[in-house]
Amino acid sequence: MQDTLLFQGMRRRMIEKLAEVGIHDAAILQALYAVPRHFFVPKGLEHLAYKNRALKIKAEQTISQPLMVAYQTQLLKIKAGDKVLEIGTGSGYQASILAALGVNVYTVERIQQLFENAQTLFNLLGYSHIQMKYGDGFEGWQEQAPFDKIIVTAAAPEIPQQLIEQLQIGGRMVIPVGAEDKVQELYLVVRTSANQFKSQVLEKVRFVPMLKGLRD
Ligand code: SAH
Repeated sequence: MQDTLLFQGMRRRMIEKLAEVGIHDAAILQALYAVPRHFFVPKGLEHLAYKNRALKIKAEQTISQPLMVAYQTQLLKIKAGDKVLEIGTGSGYQASILAALGVNVYTVERIQQLFENAQTLFNLLGYSHIQMKYGDGFEGWQEQAPFDKIIVTAAAPEIPQQLIEQLQIGGRMVIPVGAEDKVQELYLVVRTSANQFKSQVLEKVRFVPMLKGLRD
């Protein structure tokens, strides 16, 4: 796989369109330009990589559409140097966007095959400082907590208590909540003090389900 002028041109047009639909953070647009999304989609679908589409990856999972990646990232109000936990590594694309923003990324995936693919890509693209864990995201990453920000990229049945507890005071979490076949909603949760949280429902979304336990 290579990055070419053709793909760079497609990326340029993609970020122009994202800017038109409300992604105003210049650093995020720059990160979306820097990370070659066509490396993260299945072989043969590279030509679709810069359309605003979610695509199927291995193990019946999906790489989220670029607008959703940008939108969730924008909601986190990222600062360079933030410590960010991602639940659902999947293709590794969202984690790479965070890494390109200068974030210390900790990402957890429950499917071993996806975990290994993403690890190979991080090394190839120079994002080998992304910390990865093959584990169940319902448990978060206790040894590394607290986190400034948490991003969940699979729909949880409810907001997992363990994730809330691993959020820094003042920290922000974006998480889709709802059953697979029902309406899911994107929540923004802000930890306002040791035992207080503010949560806000933002909009209806569609994600693959967050599931318990590990898988090969
Ligand atoms: N952020 C990913 C999106 C992947 S789709 C990307 O940029 O490509 C959601 C991912 O969440 C899937 O890979 C799925 O296996 C994973 N997932 C679902 N439940 C999980 C859990 N309990 N712990 C960790 N990962 C989980």
